[in-house]
This record gives sequence, structure tokens and C-alpha cells, in this order.
Amino acid sequence: MSQPKELASYLEGKWVNGKGREVALVNPSTEETLATSKTDGLDFKGALAYAREGGAALRAMSFAARGELVRAMSKAIHGARDELIGLAVQNGGSTRSDAKFDIDGAWGTLAAYGDIGAELGDRTFLLDGDATQLGRSARLFGQHVYVPREGVAVHINAFNFPAWGLGEKAAVAILAGMPIVAKPATSTALVTHRIVELIANAGILPAGVLSLVCGSSGDMLDHVTGQDVVAFTGSSTTGALLRRGEGVVANSVRMNVEADSLNAAVLGPDVAEGSDVLNLFLADVVRDMTQKTGQKCTAIRRVYVPRDKAEMVLEHLRERLSGVRVGNPSLEDVTMGPLSTAQQLKDVRAGIGKLEANAKVVFGSATEVSPLLGAGEPGKGFFLSPVLLFNDSPASGDVAHLHEVFGPVATVMSYDGSAKSAAALVRAGHGGLVSSVYSDDKEFLKAFVLGIAPFHGRVTIGSSKIAAQAVPPGLVLPGLIHGGPGRAGGGEELGGKRGLAFYMQRVALQGDRALLEGICGK
Ligand code: NAP
Repeated sequence: MSQPKELASYLEGKWVNGKGREVALVNPSTEETLATSKTDGLDFKGALAYAREGGAALRAMSFAARGELVRAMSKAIHGARDELIGLAVQNGGSTRSDAKFDIDGAWGTLAAYGDIGAELGDRTFLLDGDATQLGRSARLFGQHVYVPREGVAVHINAFNFPAWGLGEKAAVAILAGMPIVAKPATSTALVTHRIVELIANAGILPAGVLSLVCGSSGDMLDHVTGQDVVAFTGSSTTGALLRRGEGVVANSVRMNVEADSLNAAVLGPDVAEGSDVLNLFLADVVRDMTQKTGQKCTAIRRVYVPRDKAEMVLEHLRERLSGVRVGNPSLEDVTMGPLSTAQQLKDVRAGIGKLEANAKVVFGSATEVSPLLGAGEPGKGFFLSPVLLFNDSPASGDVAHLHEVFGPVATVMSYDGSAKSAAALVRAGHGGLVSSVYSDDKEFLKAFVLGIAPFHGRVTIGSSKIAAQAVPPGLVLPGLIHGGPGRAGGGEELGGKRGLAFYMQRVALQGDRALLEGICGK
């Protein structure tokens, strides 16, 4: 076995190692230690100050020039795609297909923001709407503009998307004109570390624009200022803790939180057995339960079906799930890898136990995986089979509406076939990233979609005419917003140009129209 690599952080333009407690990054299929990280003693205050200096070079550039930087980052990732997939299989327990989902999402999102940069052209800041006449004379006008903030964007990411998490946040911040300090989750940081190494080695970005913390971020958030922003993705518990951080509160630091979500899939009462719409619904549920071993913030956790179709749906789901091959994802015929960490496996098993308070397991087991393909030593690895539960008479206070089990687990629940009942159950999740509905019934869809819209960042509608080209609900697109109210963290990312606003200050300018036009570059 080779010596584990010590993962350095990239701060103040240098690769640096900390001292103190070592954290191990393991292969979740074999539990072999792949790398270690230490960050005690690193100067996070100095690192933030250095990064802020890097912002000046970005702000002097046009959107088109910043877009070129973002595009070059995309190319650097794309160029190392196979190497990065290999790292994700080892360190994330991802199948090749899961790894592609993350890595292609990273370079794809960066490329999409490169295009937005080209579209915004030679401006360095943005106008927000048209100028407004403020008085009776045609001289006095107001104009809103967005200018880049002069701080640093601290990006803290979850373990499940080490490539996309970096790429989707970096693309928007750098295009808006802000430098970033990225902090991936420690357990799966190998992929992020390699991406930052590739970008740094290629000399793509001006000094200070990209920094990386591999390991704990220590006291970093105590040193954020009013021009900085924090974008966090992870559990709602950590999100709530960071919001209360001293530096964040004292300096009114702008913060975006992307957290848990009990995403729902709802089958409409009109959907018949054998239809394309039923097939789409079943494919989405099974994909979301198994892709990335269910460790996707957008994965379907709650499945609602009209009561008279419940047995039929359970039968189909059981049949499809029995085709899932769990094991070491370095083997080609494995379709679902292990959970990413020992803690994840423990939490998911405990979560299934909680769900059983109101639902019964109808497929899989919280404790056994059989057969298990290509695992290392017996008893090693964080494997679990997909687990499906069923509840014929759900109530809004049931565990499935309150607790996110972040693994290959979903609960099917019956409803009476009315849009009102379905919406009431979905709303019981207290705010989500995305929910999907499958139907061709216009009246049902209108009542249901508008009934759940205030509780979501995105709603996808699967119907006959688009069944063959539908984009899965779990796929976050750069052009549409990602985020959601309540439990989902109350945040919003991406959405094309909309995403830039988080990294920019909107300011209202008022005065003589001709002078305003001079400032705004008209
Ligand atoms: P987590 O335990 O909350 O950790 C998230 C990130 O926060 C990690 O980088 C972690 O670093 C860091 N962190 C933890 N405590 C911190 C502190 N005191 N100060 C600064 N940083 C701190 O979440 P996770 O287990 O990685 O991810 C799973 C959760 O993320 C799930 O609940 C999932 O729903 C959610 N998620 C949401 C989205 C979304 O877009 N809404 C996307 C993906 C995942 P360390 O690893 O070093 O502890």
C-alpha cells in the first residue's frame, strides 16, 4: 500500500500544511487511508486578506475577460476528466457514472458561465433595469447598478459534490468579480484538491483569486468582513451554526445556505400503467435513490402515489431496485457504490430506524447487502442496499416529512388522488430544493404546482409530450436557480445571470440624468 498523501491547502499563493490533529481521507469501499490533512496553525486571517487583494485584478476586467478565466478553468477540468473520475471512484465511492455527473457538472457549469461572460461583454459592472424619472423635470433620474463586492467569497461545500460544488460556486463568483477561498468537505477533498492544483499549475487566475482549505477552516469565519460573502452547502445544522458565527453576525456578512431537502415525487391520478409518464416517474425515483448512493441534495426522498395505484407502483419499484448491483465501484458491473464515510453509513442506518416509526420497509435492509460485489476485506466498506419504505396513511408530522436520510432510501406514501391532499403532504416537508410531478391533467397540475410553488426553488413537471426528453429533477442546471426556502436553507444559487447578484452590491444612483449616463457608461 502506498504512503497516504498529505493534502496541503493553497493559501496566499502557496501550498501549505498545518500542524496538529490529522484527519484521514479514506476509500469508502476498502477503508484504506488515501490521504491526510491538517490545518491547525494556518493563518486564515492572512489568507482572507491576500485573497481580497486578488479581487482588484478581477474588478478591472470586463465580464468577457472574467468569462475567459472561467472558461479556462472549465477546460482544465475537462482535460483531466479521466484522472478526476478515478479519484472520485477511490475517494467518494462513486461509480464512474456518478463521478461523471459531478465532474461534467463542474466543467459544464463553468463553461455556461463563460458564455454568460461573453454575452455581458465589455462592461465591468451591471445595470439593473432602466433609469427612472424621479421628479417632474426630465433631469432628475435614478438608476440601479450592481457592482462587484470588494471582499472575498468563502465557499464551504458538502462531501457529495467535490467537483461540481467547487465549479458551480467559483464560476458565478469569479464572473461577478470576486476572489474565492474554497473549503471542500474534508472526507472527499481529493478531487477538489486536484482541480485546484491543475488550475494553479496552469496559471489561469490572477494571484489571490483562488485559495483552498483542505481540512478544518479553524477560525476563518471569525475574520470575515462586511464586503465578504459566505456561500455554504451542507447540513442545516452546520448552516445554522455558521449563520450564528461571531464575524458573520457582527459584520452583517451576506450568507447563502444550501441545506437539506425532503424532495418529493408525485404521481398524478391520471397516469396509467404502461404509459411513458409512469415509466419516467419510476426511472426518476430509482435513479435518485441509487445515483451517488442517494447522497444528492436533490434526491427524491418522498414518493406520493394515489392510493389505488400504490401496490402497482411498489411492485414496479421493487423490480427495478432488485436490478441494482451494490459493490466496489471500481468494478464495471457495479451500479451503486458505498456511502462516502463511516459516519454516513451510521446516520443512514439510524435514519431508516426513525422512518420505521411510521412506515414499513418493503425493499432492502438497513443492515445487510447481498450480494456485495468486489468488496475488499470482509466487513470493510460502508455499503448499504437501497431501502424502500411504505406508508399507506401518511400524516404531516411523520418522520418522512421531517428527517432527511442522506442515502439510498425513499418512502412511498399514498394520497387520495386530489391535488389538494398531495400538495398538503409535500408542503409538510417545510421547504425543498426541487419536487417533481408526473401527470397530463391540466387542472390537477395547476392546483398542485401552484400549491407547492411557495415552498420550493424548482418544480419539474413530467408529462407525455416531454417524457422522452425530460431532464431529471436531480440535475441542477446552470440556467435555472438552485436553492429553496425553509429547511432547504433559504438560499439561491445559479439561475444564469441571476446568480451574479449574490456577489455584487446593488446600489441606487440618483442625480442628473446626463451625469448618471456618464457614470453608467451609456
Ligand atoms: P456538513 O457536515 O454540514 O458539512 C458541510 C461543510 O461544512 C463541510 O465542508 C464541513 O467541513 C463544513 N463544516 C462543518 N462544520 C463547520 C464549521 N464549524 N465551520 C466551518 N465549516 C464547517 O454536511 P455534509 O455531511 O458534508 O453534507 C451532507 C449534507 O449536505 C446533507 O444534509 C445534504 O442535504 C446537504 N447538501 C445540500 C446541498 C444543496 O445544494 N442544498 C448540496 C449537497 C449537500 P468538514 O468536512 O471539514 O467537517
